[in-house]
Amino acid sequence: MSNKDVWKKVLVRIKPTIKLPLFKTWFTDTGIIDRNSNTIIVGFPTPFAKKWVQDRYHLKIKQAVQEVDPTIQDIEYQVHSSLTSKSSVHKVVLDSVLSEEDEKCVRKVRNRNEVYIGKKGLKSKKLNVRHTLENFVVGKDNKLAHAACLAVSSMPGGIYNPLYVFSGVGLGKTHLLQAVGLDILKSHPGSRVIYMTAEQFTNEIIEAIGKRKTKEFKDKYRTVDCFILDDIQFLENKDMSQMEFFHTFNDLYDNNKQIVLSSDNPPKDLKGFKDRLKGRFGMGTVVEILPPDYETRLAILKQRSQELQVIIDPEVLECIAFNIESNVRDLLGVLMQVISQTTLNDTVPTIELVADILSSQHRIHQIHKNNAPNAPVDQIKSINQIIETVANYFHVTKDDLIGPVRKKNIMIARQISMYIVRYELDHSYEKIGEYFGGRNHTTVLHAYNLIESRLKTDHRLIRDITAIKREMGF
Ligand code: ADP
Ligand code: MG
Repeated sequence: MSNKDVWKKVLVRIKPTIKLPLFKTWFTDTGIIDRNSNTIIVGFPTPFAKKWVQDRYHLKIKQAVQEVDPTIQDIEYQVHSSLTSKSSVHKVVLDSVLSEEDEKCVRKVRNRNEVYIGKKGLKSKKLNVRHTLENFVVGKDNKLAHAACLAVSSMPGGIYNPLYVFSGVGLGKTHLLQAVGLDILKSHPGSRVIYMTAEQFTNEIIEAIGKRKTKEFKDKYRTVDCFILDDIQFLENKDMSQMEFFHTFNDLYDNNKQIVLSSDNPPKDLKGFKDRLKGRFGMGTVVEILPPDYETRLAILKQRSQELQVIIDPEVLECIAFNIESNVRDLLGVLMQVISQTTLNDTVPTIELVADILSSQHRIHQIHKNNAPNAPVDQIKSINQIIETVANYFHVTKDDLIGPVRKKNIMIARQISMYIVRYELDHSYEKIGEYFGGRNHTTVLHAYNLIESRLKTDHRLIRDITAIKREMGF
C-alpha cells in the first residue's frame, strides 16, 4: 500500500470521530512524507496544525494507523509547508476522503463482536437494538445503575471506569450494558465498541490458541474504545481466560478506554477469581440492580405494552405486576404469554387469563375468588389477617369490609383496615384497592389520609388502632 493510500484510509477512519469543520481545518493538506520500516512521518502545513493534531488526536491517529497497517508502530509529526502547494505529491486531497462512505470504513471491521452504525442506522447481530437507555424503565432499585450507564456513555473512559454492574438474573444487566454500547456509538459514531459475553470471550481464546492466532486475538481486543463483557462470572476458575482478560483490561484501562462489566455478584464475592483481577474490577464504579418494586414492575409492563402497541386493561397489568416479583424477565415473560394467547384467540386480556397462566406455572397455589384473584397466597394471608382482626374488633364481617356496604361504622372499619394495611405492609394504593373489592386507588389514598389526620386528635381512634395492632403483633 502506498503512503498516500495508508493516509487516506487513516483519514477515512478518523473523519467520523471528529466534527466535520474541525476535521477539514486540521487535516487539509496533510500526508505521509516518509516511512522507514515501522515509523511514518506525517506532515502538516503549519506548526500550529501539527501541534494541535499531535496534542489532541494522536491516539485516534495511532489507532487508525494500526488498523490500516499493523506493522506501523510509531508516528512522527513534522511541518512541511510545501504540502499547501497544489503539486505536492504527499498530500491527500481531502475531497476524496469526504466522499468516501462512512459505512465502507466501518464495514471493514474485522471483528465479529463489533457493533457499528451503518447507512441505515444501527446494525448488530450481537446487540438487541431495543436495549436502549430510553427503553429502560428507571425505578428506585435500578436508578444508580442507570445513572452510571448514562454517565459512562456521555464520557467513556472517564471517572466511571471500569463500570461494574451486578444483580440477580433477569434484572436488566444485559439491557443496560448493551444500551451503553449503543449510546456510545450514537454519540461517537467512529468509535469501536465490542460487546460480548464472557462465554464468547472464553470460546474465542480457546479457538485462537487452537489456530495459533493469539496475537490476532490480543490485537483485536486491545485496540477498541469500549469493551463490554457480560456475565463475567463465567470466567470462574478459567485461569487462562482470566489471565488474557487481565492483560486486555490493563491495556484498555491504561489507554483510558471504557470497560463495562456485569456479573451476578460484587467483585469481592466472586469465587474462583484471581485477587488481582477482582481488585481491577472494583477500581471504578460498582453498582447493584435490585429487584424492582411494584411501581417499577407496573411501569415496565406499561412501557413494554406501549412499545408493542397493544392495549391492555391496566388492571391486567397490575395483576401481573403484583404477582411476579422475582425478576423482569419473568414479568415480561408472563406479559408476552398473555399477549400471544389473546392474539391467537382474538380475545381481550383478562385477569382470569393471567390467573390461569400464573397457576399453570405454579406461581400461585390458589386463586382467591372473591376479591383478589391476583394476589399471591402469602400476601393474601397477611392482608387477610389484618382485615379479619379489624372485622372482629368492630364486630362486623370480613365481607362487609371488602364489599360495597356504605354504613358508617363499616366504612370507618374499612378505612382503618386500609390504613393499617398501607402502614404496616407498605403496599401501593392500587394494590390495596384491588384487595378491597377492586376499589380505585384514590379511595384508599383518601382513607389513609383521613385516618392519619384524625389520629392527631381522635383519642378513641388511637386506642382502637393501637389495640388492633397489638393484637396482630405489629
Ligand atoms: P440480566 O442480564 O440481568 O439477566 P436482562 O438485561 O436480560 O437481565 O433483562 C431481562 C429482560 O428484562 C430484558 O428483556 C430487558 O429488556 C428487560 N428489562 C429489565 N429491566 C428493565 C427495565 N428497567 N426496563 C425495561 N426493561 C427491562
Ligand atoms: Mg444478562
